[in-house]
This record gives sequence, structure tokens and C-alpha cells, in this order.
Amino acid sequence: MDKAKVVEIKDLGITYHTIEEETEALRDVNLDIYHNEIIGVVGPSGCGKSTLLSIIAGLIKPTKGSVRVNGRLVDKPLNNVGYMFQSDQLFEWRNILNNVLLGLEIQGKLDDEAKERAKEMLHSYGLGDFIYSYPYQLSGGMRQRVALIRTLILEPDLLLLDEPFSALDYQTRLAISDEIGTILKKEEKTAIMVTHDISEAISMSDRVVVLSQRPGTIKKIFDIKLSCNKERTPLKSREAPEFRHYFNEIWRELDIHV
Ligand code: ADP
Repeated sequence: MDKAKVVEIKDLGITYHTIEEETEALRDVNLDIYHNEIIGVVGPSGCGKSTLLSIIAGLIKPTKGSVRVNGRLVDKPLNNVGYMFQSDQLFEWRNILNNVLLGLEIQGKLDDEAKERAKEMLHSYGLGDFIYSYPYQLSGGMRQRVALIRTLILEPDLLLLDEPFSALDYQTRLAISDEIGTILKKEEKTAIMVTHDISEAISMSDRVVVLSQRPGTIKKIFDIKLSCNKERTPLKSREAPEFRHYFNEIWRELDIHV
């Protein structure tokens, strides 16, 4: 059976206008994303990666073309799209449970059942002892996990991740990307992740989209097929024999000169 199409990006383009200049940030972007796919987006700095996520999130309007999420035209932020950014944006004065419940509270969906579900998720993702702690008592990696649970509890059809691990040190980054990649697959989520880290993109994604220099166009899409023992997780992916090959290919496509 064909998988359901979650995102449909059609002939997308955007030009920013400022008083001094026009900047064409994206041109002719066409991409379909299917249920339970994780898409990694890489590209040179300034090529329009964040712009692309902001358009899909409904935060800015494209100049040309359209984005649909589950068939619905994105012309404003949609309730069924969740975000996770570089900074976890937890509220320091709210305990962990109340941080997780924030989105539900805003959407008017907070009830006892939702509270129980939040506690269960915190338990099952290793935060059971920190339900009533405050953000400052948690490590950077734990805080990112809380941010993810806060997003997942809203049961979004699509998750947008903008450099979600770049504020973390290398070891934490490896561990948390492994955990979060595994959680996204277990919860059968569809996600688009922007990263400047090629290894992270390969290890977590089903497909990696390489954008060209600005104006960002899709240069190439890599279908990531790795032979892992048993199930594929981000950390095991890094040990797959094909990993290095994808790394070299993507590096070449990025065409970065220093
Ligand atoms: P990336 O995430 O790949 O680094 P961005 O999407 O942030 O790239 O930016 C793409 C281009 O658009 C850059 O040249 C940037 O300067 C420009 N840009 C981004 N946001 C704005 C804005 N609000 N107004 C004008 N230009 C912008």
C-alpha cells in the first residue's frame, strides 16, 4: 500500500524584500513527504533552510507556490504541526510537567487524562524522577527531551526540527539524537530536520535533501539505505558500511569551499 502523503511542497519560491535589496532565498522547490518519513535538509549557510521550515510552519508566506500538510493549504500556523528549535524554550518558572502541558493548555485541551499521558511519557522517556523538577535542574540533553515530549503530546502530524541539537556538546548531541530519532520512529512521526551536520542528517533520516547555494533549490535527494544489524537507530546507522559513502557524496554535493 502506498504511504499517505503528509507534506506537498509545490513550485515553492520566496524573495525577501528589504529597503536596500531583494533576496531570492528559495526557488522552485518541489518535494513530497510521506507518513513516518524523517527528512534531513542540509545546505550551505544562508541557502534558505530556516526559511523553508518557516514557510512550512506557516510563519511566513511564500512568493510563489504552495505547501500543503495533510491536504490542507498552509496559510497560517496549523495546530497539527509541531516545532523543536535549537534552544529548548522551556519556561524556567514552570516545572517539567507544566512545561510539557503548556501546548495543551494553550489549545484548551488540558484535562486529567492528558496530565496522565504526560506523566506516562515522561516516565517512559527516562524523566520520571524529574516530573516536578524545574528546567535548571536538568542537563541540556534532558531539557531537549522535555521539549520533544511537549511537542509530541500535541500529537502533531508533522514535526519541524531546526538544528535541534546544535546547542549541545558533542557527546550529548550523539546520545540525544539517537534517543530522539528512535522516539520519532517508535511514535511513527513524520519530521523535517534542518541540520548543518552531515553525519546527523544521514544517521537520522530516511532521505537527505541537499539544497544549493542561495537561491536554495533542491540539488539532490539521497535515499538513505543502510545495512544495520537488527533495527536501524541513529547510532547504529553510523556503523553501517554505507555511511561513509553517503557522507562523501553529500559533502561533494554541498560543494563547500573555504
Ligand atoms: P539558512 O537557514 O540556510 O542559513 P535562511 O533561511 O536563514 O538560511 O536565509 C536565507 C537567505 O534569506 C539569507 O540570505 C538571509 O540573509 C535571507 N533572509 C532570511 N530572513 C530574512 C528576512 N526576514 N528578511 C530579509 N532577508 C532574509
